[in-house]
Amino acid sequence: MRREWLLAWLWVGGASGIGALLSYPWTGIIIGLASYLAWHLFNLRRLVRWLSGDGSLPGGSPGGWGEIYHGLYRLRRRSRRRKKRLRKALKRFRQSTAALPDAIVALEDDEFIDWWNPPAGEWLGLRRQDLGQPISNLLRDPALIHFLREQRDPDEELTIDAPMDPARKLAVRLVDYGKRRRLLVARDITRLQRLEQMRSDFVANVSHELRTPLTVISGYLETLEADPQLPGELKTVIQTMDAQAQRLQNIVSDLLLLSRLENGEGLRHEEDIDMHAMLGAIVEDARVLSNGRHRIELVLESHSGLHGNREELHSAFANLIGNAVRYVPEGGNITVSWREHDDGLQMCVADDGPGIEARHLPRLTERFYRVDTGRSREQGGTGLGLAIVKHVLLKLNGELRIDSEPGRGSRFCCHFPLSARSGSLS
Ligand code: ADP
Repeated sequence: MRREWLLAWLWVGGASGIGALLSYPWTGIIIGLASYLAWHLFNLRRLVRWLSGDGSLPGGSPGGWGEIYHGLYRLRRRSRRRKKRLRKALKRFRQSTAALPDAIVALEDDEFIDWWNPPAGEWLGLRRQDLGQPISNLLRDPALIHFLREQRDPDEELTIDAPMDPARKLAVRLVDYGKRRRLLVARDITRLQRLEQMRSDFVANVSHELRTPLTVISGYLETLEADPQLPGELKTVIQTMDAQAQRLQNIVSDLLLLSRLENGEGLRHEEDIDMHAMLGAIVEDARVLSNGRHRIELVLESHSGLHGNREELHSAFANLIGNAVRYVPEGGNITVSWREHDDGLQMCVADDGPGIEARHLPRLTERFYRVDTGRSREQGGTGLGLAIVKHVLLKLNGELRIDSEPGRGSRFCCHFPLSARSGSLS
């Protein structure tokens, strides 16, 4: 700026000096000021033209204009370099998202489509004109729309058929990544589901095939066992074989029930169930099984019933009560209760038996998971009981809650939502 002042003084001073020499000092000053102003206007016009994209950046001007042009030139060079770097980064980003095997859709303001990668375009049928549209206008699956509105847990997945290819199964997740910005990530799980289905079909088929031969073997063993002429040492052998055949039959029928429940082919008939009658009958059976070794109490606080499949619910409750009788040592107490709370209905089996260590609790409902394998087998357990209970409850949107501590007993509660209630029965 100092140079600009110097230039202005020299310009106007020079003009007035020449004017003074010619005896017209004021005319010299006016011409000096006017030409100085004209020079600025000329440079201003060049700058405006350049800013509006017309013409190249002028150079070589003295004073402030030279500094302005030079500064602008540097700025433009820097911004060009930055733009190039950004373009390259964007290209790399586009290439990497296109190479991803999952479909990704970026959503602005929770649901407006910002961009997507090629698998998303192919599986969800998104086209160029869908940019900026609410995604719920394009994907009409009601479960997906509900998921988009309500889902806030990034770990939760929804399985849907791909809109453009119903044979393709997609696991959809929603991940927050900024202020009201979300990523919809869809993973192709067609192969996984097919494998899962094959595994489940295989277990169901094997169990089914084993059922008849086992019934025949068991029948013959029972007939042999009843033969009075059977020598004593053979009788023990036959009895052991019969007990093992019985155990196999129990495993096979539990496996069959479990695969039916898993495949959603559970027994379809649903009815109103009088819980007082059902629990009363199961507790009576448990007392027979216990043969006086335990004190079994039934506490019925709610008059509500359940709406579901009778056989499946009977099997779930009988499993829990049967477990208590099998695992609680002689002299123990077992309490079966039926209660209603604000958030649902609860059937609990509490005992003061050996209890279970905390590390086992999350795995108890896995198939064939046992805390003590030897003891479970000795008690005639199949290791499938709690897995069956979990699946029966899932069908009614219920859940199994387990509370247990070694030495202090266990509490297994079947929690049902109020929607599973059949209404007052008595
Ligand atoms: P199992 O046929 O072996 O009883 P379950 O799935 O019914 O299989 O139970 C899984 C395991 O949970 C059992 O092996 C047992 O170790 C443990 N368990 C279940 N109920 C009780 C209980 N009331 N007290 C202590 N342990 C229990």
